[in-house]
Amino acid sequence: MKIICIGRNYSEHAKELNNDVPASPVVFLKPKTALLLKGKDFYHPDFSNDIHYECELVVKICKNGKYIREKFAQKYYDEVTVGIDFTARDLQQQQKEKGLPWEIAKAFDNSAVVGDFIKPDDQEKLKNLVFSLYKNGKEVQLGNVQDMIFTIDKIISYVSQFFSLNTGDLIFTGTPKGVGAIARGDVLEGFLQGEKKFQVIIK
Ligand code: MG
Repeated sequence: MKIICIGRNYSEHAKELNNDVPASPVVFLKPKTALLLKGKDFYHPDFSNDIHYECELVVKICKNGKYIREKFAQKYYDEVTVGIDFTARDLQQQQKEKGLPWEIAKAFDNSAVVGDFIKPDDQEKLKNLVFSLYKNGKEVQLGNVQDMIFTIDKIISYVSQFFSLNTGDLIFTGTPKGVGAIARGDVLEGFLQGEKKFQVIIK
């Protein structure tokens, strides 16, 4: 399996990091080793002094496909959850300034938190989902799928031109505003439609 991530998919978040709103999706990958296993703590790595949480809607691919047309994209996913795209913001900034790839800042071990999936019975329900992140009991991010610049269907259509999609692949669809740094001792909880889907303790 692979993890495909979309950057700058909410205009308010693009603004908070002084990025332009993109004309096409910003895409990067994380390897399988980036998955934080369920129920495990996240150990703050030593290579960064500024790891940020980015809470995102995560879509699971349920069918193999390539060159998927937007109008058929719905057939390729039926489960979603909420997750975290952990980002070493200091390393990412250095890489951006040099015009270099982001992998060391984005794709490191345990940088992808994935909650428990839900399978709505109706595809329409996937178009109006609300998700949020709580840090130490306080809401820090609130997202609505309706605010995405590129919809889930558009993302699937776009990325499948470059990468064949396989059953089990995950797509992180971008973070809303409110990203921030984590510190040892923090407790992060992700909610989808008001239901808790993960909890991660920072060690
Ligand atoms: Mg992200």
